[in-house]
Amino acid sequence: MEIIVRPFLAELDYRTLNNLGNDISREFENIKVAAAAGADNSNLVQLNKDVAFQSSFDNQRNQWYSPKLLDWFFEKFRPKKDTKILFILDVDAYSNGLNFVLGEASHKGGLGAIYLPRIKQEFYGLKPDNELFYQRMVKESVHELGHVFGFFHCQNPRCVMYFSNTLSDTDNKERSFCQSCRTRNFRSFK
Ligand SMILES: [Zn+2]
Ligand SMILES: [Zn+2]
Repeated sequence: MEIIVRPFLAELDYRTLNNLGNDISREFENIKVAAAAGADNSNLVQLNKDVAFQSSFDNQRNQWYSPKLLDWFFEKFRPKKDTKILFILDVDAYSNGLNFVLGEASHKGGLGAIYLPRIKQEFYGLKPDNELFYQRMVKESVHELGHVFGFFHCQNPRCVMYFSNTLSDTDNKERSFCQSCRTRNFRSFK
């Protein structure tokens, strides 16, 4: 089993991406995590011409429609059975019945995405806080990958699988699975 972390329409420096890979690996029983190129290497010219991709953007809301984006990723990247992919996007997104999402997992399996703008303090007119941003990114990454591995939401507010309705829910929870989530799902990492 392998996890691939891939920035897409996002710039993350090599060190941050590397740390993120290590922190994710630790939560998944030291599964191998490959952090793809630190800089985003998506081809913007090609993306601009890609009708299916462009149609995931909602002009009126000025947000990406996450389920459609995830379907597009699925068609494009076709994750293999033993590979799970986490896309990191620096764009704002929404989903069914939700004004925004910090991340979402594909219902087709194999991949998930996190969306960075709303985990940055500056989104709310506050002073940038790199450490806080990083901690939130780790939690959202582990949470969405948890879904990709078949974890459901957990009632324990400290557990990483607790549903974050607000950013303070994210800040209050740990980056780790609680003992009961761990026991229930441990075998899915193998
Ligand atoms: Zn969730
Ligand atoms: Zn839990």
